[in-house]
Amino acid sequence: MPTKPTKPTKPTKPTKRTKPTKPTKPTKPTKPAHRNEERSGIRLSLIIIILVFSAVIVSFALSLTIGYTTQKKSLTENTLELNRITANELSRTTQTIVQSMQDTLKSASDYISSGQWKQEDLQHQIDFLRVSVPYFNSVVLVNEAGVVTATSPEALALKGTTLSSDQAKQALQLKQPLISEPYTAASTGRLIILASSPIYDAQGNYAGFIGGSVYLQEPNVFQKILGQQGENENGSYYYVVDSNGNLIYHPDPKRVGENVSDNAIVKLLLSGRSGQMSVVNSQHVKFLAGAAYIPAVGWGIVSQTPAVVVTKSVDAVIGKVALISAPFMVILLLIVIFISQRLSSPLNRLAHLASNLTSGTAKTVQLPDIRHWNYETSELYSAVNEAFRLLDRRAEEYSHQAHTDPLTGLTNRRLMDEIVARWAAEGVPFSIVMMDLDRFKTVNDTYGHQMGDEVLRFLAGRMLEEKGKNDYCCRYGGEEFVFLLPYRSDDEAYEIAERLRGRIESEISPTGRPMTLSLGISSYPARALTIEDLFGQADVALYQAKQGGRNRTIRYDEAAAAEAGNEADH
Ligand code: GH3
Ligand code: MG
Ligand code: MG
Repeated sequence: MPTKPTKPTKPTKPTKRTKPTKPTKPTKPTKPAHRNEERSGIRLSLIIIILVFSAVIVSFALSLTIGYTTQKKSLTENTLELNRITANELSRTTQTIVQSMQDTLKSASDYISSGQWKQEDLQHQIDFLRVSVPYFNSVVLVNEAGVVTATSPEALALKGTTLSSDQAKQALQLKQPLISEPYTAASTGRLIILASSPIYDAQGNYAGFIGGSVYLQEPNVFQKILGQQGENENGSYYYVVDSNGNLIYHPDPKRVGENVSDNAIVKLLLSGRSGQMSVVNSQHVKFLAGAAYIPAVGWGIVSQTPAVVVTKSVDAVIGKVALISAPFMVILLLIVIFISQRLSSPLNRLAHLASNLTSGTAKTVQLPDIRHWNYETSELYSAVNEAFRLLDRRAEEYSHQAHTDPLTGLTNRRLMDEIVARWAAEGVPFSIVMMDLDRFKTVNDTYGHQMGDEVLRFLAGRMLEEKGKNDYCCRYGGEEFVFLLPYRSDDEAYEIAERLRGRIESEISPTGRPMTLSLGISSYPARALTIEDLFGQADVALYQAKQGGRNRTIRYDEAAAAEAGNEADH
């Protein structure tokens, strides 16, 4: 027997929430934990850029270094070789000059020896000899006693003097064609080389020599012929040394006569050999030098180029290569940035979507169905998509579980409260039918709890069969159930309630016998202005139905009238 409630049982106060609580999530972290980890890591795009670029720069630097070394080596070798060839050519030229000097003096001495030389023409003849060939700065005729008999130019004022130099004495002694080492002439103080050829009189007696001098520190034959090419604009030049290592020719005339036998390549020449090597000159400048020995006179020629020329030209080439490569490097960088962005952006997007999902801003996540060109990204996409789908399904399952009564499969109290609150908030008019099985306790007592459950399921099944498309069947309490009937008046609710009641009383329940049901009805906002009142009124009506003998349906207005009547009776 139901006892009359002093106050109608209050339904759970509906919450103000308009959105259902997500049942899948017991706690709601505002920020998912993985976001922090993500922030502490290095971006994938940056890693790719750094990796590719360091690889490119290292290989580029390596190839530049190798290029630089090989280029420098080959250019150094070429320069040495070129200088060797130049020295060789110059040595031939110098040999030719020396040969011609001797030949010229020989023909003059032969001419004099032949006696055809007339004394009165002498001056004229040696003057002619000096100017007609470019070899001699001065020409002297010396008799067998070493006394100068004629000079050209005449102004030399040597005529009548006796030559005292060792070189002149040597020529007189040896009575052979000679070319002297450089020496300083006692009479003039000039640094000279003396070339001489012996003269014999008609009887074949030695009569002295004819000598041609080259003034080494003044414009001379060597300067005229060797100096034509002068010092190259890249700083290359050459010089000639005699068999003692004294400079016979040098582009800097002040250095002529200086002994440079300490120089490594000059040493090579003094040992009678030709060759090439890098040397450091007296000014401590490094040169790439080629040297050629002139066997006929024992002299040597050195042609050399400053080593810095090679370094500079290799630097220029490498600089140019670097300059040409620069735009390609920039393009490469842009491509790498572009690709790395394309690689990382779908991952970032995934992370963003997942983060939205876990932070609750997105209910379900629909990933665009992209086949990314990168295999791993594509795989990740479909894996995440699959995970999201699974998550979605799980969420739905949990949500269903959280909103469903496990025994009957009807809407549970929790969802019922939410629906009612939503309708009230949206201004949806609706009626409720609250019902309670009659004498249910006896079912439990007689057939056992299990059977009681069966009966509850049986009632739920009938409720579902009677409900309309938009109606809800809810399990309100132990064996109390509620119909939620949107846009239905209490009259319409009454019809549904009566249909259900009729079926329950006529159909055989699991107990083997029919059951009965008492039902109470109220409407919102037609009867009750608050949800609280609505359930209170339905409860009052249900109570009235029990009071009235059970197995009946009472609307709140009837119940209220009856109550009023009862109270009036007291
Ligand atoms: P009345 O006609 O006055 O409603 O009589 P009643 O016996 O049905 O009394 P009441 O509604 O107060 O009894 C409710 C009983 O329902 C009490 C409880 O044992 C039983 N019950 C509640 N929930 C369940 C359930 O889930 N399974 C079963 N088997 N019994 C339940
Ligand atoms: Mg009850
Ligand atoms: Mg009951």
